[in-house]
Amino acid sequence: MNILGEINCFGLCLKVSELAPLVALLIVISIGLLAASFMIRMPKHRLLTFVSAQVAAFIAIISTFYLMKCEGMLTIYLYSGYAVISTAVIFGSLRFYDRLMIRRLNAKPIGNVIGWMQEFTGRLANATVYYYDSAVPKAFAAGKSIFVSLGLLELLNDDELKAVLAHEAWHIRNNGRTPFLKQLAIMTFSSPGRGELEKMADRFAEEIAGSEALTSARSKVDKVFI
Ligand SMILES: [Zn+2]
Repeated sequence: MNILGEINCFGLCLKVSELAPLVALLIVISIGLLAASFMIRMPKHRLLTFVSAQVAAFIAIISTFYLMKCEGMLTIYLYSGYAVISTAVIFGSLRFYDRLMIRRLNAKPIGNVIGWMQEFTGRLANATVYYYDSAVPKAFAAGKSIFVSLGLLELLNDDELKAVLAHEAWHIRNNGRTPFLKQLAIMTFSSPGRGELEKMADRFAEEIAGSEALTSARSKVDKVFI
């Protein structure tokens, strides 16, 4: 069957089915959720909305497939196209996540103000350290960048900061070993969860900065560096 025939059949099958309004509703919902996921600013909510949009689209596509009494090639083409685009969006946002964060947080290279922090990190990993204006003490790694808040800089002494930087540098060195879902979790700033990767990053931080510095950094600020 040629593609025009498919489109024709596609319309015909949907027109005669009682479930067509439901499928249409699902399609509208998934498009709405997808649009919302690009506008929502909170990373965690954005990711949740994005995943919900994927689920709604998937259900809509499966039910369309079910409704169609045609060969279903068009459905497969549509789904393949959709899958390629959404995968590209996910991988693209991971790849450029640090660029996005620099802009969103209005982050500036720390090398401009505290030279030793960039030098120290540069010896451990190919990473740039950025600071941003927030009283909440926090540090995280994304792409090839490490972000620290002003709150963290105020709260910790130099040794504790070295422990945090070493921990984050380990993440960047081992980015390839970080599972995709874990990278998404970092995107959402979820609480660290003491998984195997976190323990390895902590062990590295202890080697570089000493266990005392790491322990006191962690005790000063719970769940700060992820
Ligand atoms: Zn970590």
